[in-house]
Formats: sequence, C-alpha cells, structure tokens
Amino acid sequence: MTRTVSSGFDPDANGVGSSLEEQRLTQVHDYLQTVEAESVDRLIQYLKMPSISAHGKGMAEVADVLVDWMNDIGLDTKLMDTPGWPMVLGRSPHQEGRPTVLFYGHYDVQPADDLDEWDSPPFDPTIRDGRIYARGAGDNKGQHFAQLLAIEATMKTHGELPCNVIFLLEGEEEVGSPNIAGFVDQHRELLQADLVVTSDGPVHENGQAVVLFGVRGVVAFELRAQGANKDLHSGNFGNVAPNPIWTLVHLLATMKNAAGEITIEGLYDDVDELGQLELDTLQALPVNEDEVKGQLDLDNLDLPDRPYYLRLAQPTFTINGISGGYSGEGMKTVLPHQASVKCDIRLVQSQTHEDIIKKITAHVAKHAPDVEVVAHGGMDPSKTPLDSRFAQPLSDAVESGRREKPLAVPALGGSLPDYVWTKILGLPSFVIPYANADEANHAPNENIEVDRFLDGIRTGSAIMNHLGRMEESS
Ligand SMILES: [Zn+2]
Repeated sequence: MTRTVSSGFDPDANGVGSSLEEQRLTQVHDYLQTVEAESVDRLIQYLKMPSISAHGKGMAEVADVLVDWMNDIGLDTKLMDTPGWPMVLGRSPHQEGRPTVLFYGHYDVQPADDLDEWDSPPFDPTIRDGRIYARGAGDNKGQHFAQLLAIEATMKTHGELPCNVIFLLEGEEEVGSPNIAGFVDQHRELLQADLVVTSDGPVHENGQAVVLFGVRGVVAFELRAQGANKDLHSGNFGNVAPNPIWTLVHLLATMKNAAGEITIEGLYDDVDELGQLELDTLQALPVNEDEVKGQLDLDNLDLPDRPYYLRLAQPTFTINGISGGYSGEGMKTVLPHQASVKCDIRLVQSQTHEDIIKKITAHVAKHAPDVEVVAHGGMDPSKTPLDSRFAQPLSDAVESGRREKPLAVPALGGSLPDYVWTKILGLPSFVIPYANADEANHAPNENIEVDRFLDGIRTGSAIMNHLGRMEESS
C-alpha cells in the first residue's frame, strides 16, 4: 500500500481490508498469552548459558544450541564461519511476493566481572520486582530471543509467517564486530532483504518505545607533538624551546571554535541541512533540559543556542584527554618535551570515517606540519529516511505489541555498526529496542523488565504481521 507520511507517524493509518490480518495477529497474541510463564522460563534457561566473546567462554556451545532451536522453530539454520566467532544464520521457507525482513541480533555477552557487584550471580538468572537479572538479559539475549519466540508463536498459530525472515545472530558484537562488514559484503546474496530490524539497546529514557532510523558514526584519532629531546627548565628554555602542549593548544583552537562549529576544512561537506520532517521529528522528542542539568550538576549546558536534539544529530568534536608535562602534586616548572591529545569526532549522514581522517590529516599538515596524526579507526554513520515506506508499518507494529505509540528517533547519538545494512547492503535499517532504559547493559545487575520482554515477543510477531500486510495491498 502507498502511504504518504507527511510528518512522523500517523496512528490512524491502518489500511482498509486489514481486519483479517488484524485477526491473525490477535490469534498469535492470544496464543502468546497462554505461554507467558513458559516464555520467561525459556529465556531464563538461555541466560544460564554464558557466551562471552571477550574470552570465548561458552561461545561454541551457545552457537550450537541456537542452531538447534532455530531449526526446531522452522528456520533453516546453520553456522557460518568468520575469522572470529561464527554467525548463526536462519531463514524461513521463502514465499514469493512477500517482503523479507532481516532480523539482526548478537548471541555474545559482555564479561560479568566484577562478580561482587552483582546482587545475584550473572549466570543464575533471578526475577526480582518484575525484572529478570542476568548478564545478557537486555543485551542482547532477551531481545533476540523475543524475536525468535515471535517467529515460533506465529508458526505454531498459522503454520507460516506473514513475511520472509532472515535471522542473523553475530558472536562478536561485544568485541566491536570486527568481522561483520566483511561477512555482510561476502554474503550479499544470502542476505538479500527489503529491510533490517535490530532489537538492541534501551527504549527512551522516559520509558517510551522508540523506532530508531540511524546512528552517528565515529572517528578516533590522536595528535602527537614533539619538542626538545628532553624536558627542560621553563626559566632557562621558555621562549627558546617550543612547548609541544602549546603547539597542540593552538592547533586544537583551529579545529573548533567557541560557537561549537568544527572548523576543520571540508568537515561539513557531506552534512546536508536537515529537512522539515527531520527537524519536526527531532523537536518532538521529549527532553527536560533542567532535569539533565540536575542529573549532571551543571548550571549550563554546552551550545545553549542549539535545540537539544539537534546537538545530538550533528557532528561533534570531543577532546578525550591531553597528556604531557607535569600534572602531579605541587608544582614543577618544567617545559615538556612531548605532548599528545586523544580525540573523537561523531559523524552523521554521508560522512565516512576514511574521508574525515583524511581531512583531519590535511588540516593538521596545514596548521601544524610537525604534529603527527595517528588514526585509531572508526565506524560510518547510518541513516534511513523518516518517510521510508516501512516507517508506518513498524510504528503500527510497536503500537500493537507495546500498546503505545513509539517515538521516531532520527539518529542515535552513539555509534553501532548499522552502516553494514544501509551502506553495504543498501537497505533501510531500523532499531526497535525492547529493553528498559535502565537495563544496566555492560554493568553489574543487568536486567530486562519481564513485561518488556513479553511485549517484545508481541511486537516481533506484529512486525512480521504488519510487513506482510504491506505486500497484500501493493
Ligand atoms: Zn552490548
């Protein structure tokens, strides 16, 4: 069906003739209600199995278990080799003429130390106050397991899925996804889909569900300045020997001005002005600046002239730390002989980390030719248009799974390897998190609210249902 989305989501956009599909979804949701306790119990069994990519504990075992589970629920599944931990790839029986969704998740978890800081052991899942506490509860087992249970419930209820599904689980997300770009590039054919949906990360801080349309990229680098061959007396050599910290200070001042604009030549070349829909959507995001100030004990925030969410939707240049000279106790009137500064720049839209590091290098060569630029890698941004034809069905799906209208978020402030879908496969990609905002991922007492996990299963089945409806009326 063709829908014109003029500004964000339209809650009343359910097409005529969708009542049969609505019924089929209700049947799946009715079935899910009868197996809620069992679903929670099965997640608990899954969470008992460690799969820590950082040191390999349980990885092979969990990958094998997933292959069995996914084959059991009707996805043709196998392990796919990478130079690191394997991918688990499952596919539903292909039905011609129906859209194909690629669900992505990751079966590895963060290490659980420090064990003393957990109120219950990380691999002995415990339910307290409506939450399941365990490593991986939110990040990401509770979320992709919800998708799997959604597939199973739909298969059990109707014997088939309303759309085609490719299910990809990575084993190295928690160690920076070193092999996913290569894997996706190598298996473009196998991964052919119409869209990608990832359920990872938390919902909005205010608890509201979100559909995320992109992430910022990042480039990390270090600038190193060298002075004399040793530290010197500032009285005997000040004004004589150059001070590498001053060299960096002057250089940094040419890279960003006090208004917050990055002044590296060409940096904004691939940043387009935001369209009205994006601006409206960003502005509609709830934020309470006073609350943020309170939480951070700040009287003022940076760049007060810019709307809050615009600050997170634009490139940002951060000095992470400066080292050199003496910063210990008391004074030492030393003239340092070397200095370095570590920085990152968050990227948006069509910027690439390779291009930006070139621009940084050219800028440094022009303004401080003796300073060395050391690149520390990066990740490209991703962006899916807010008026993508999948935006409305996905919003409807979240609404029927969670019983609330999701917020549309044009771009996450942080970075994820979402570009592998948008850039390598050229697909629209959406992140629909199921975990609570205080899931404590990567931290002790990681958890997911039981209700959000169950609503995740409902949402997963609704996603397939609403995507299936699109095909029928087109
Ligand atoms: Zn994580």
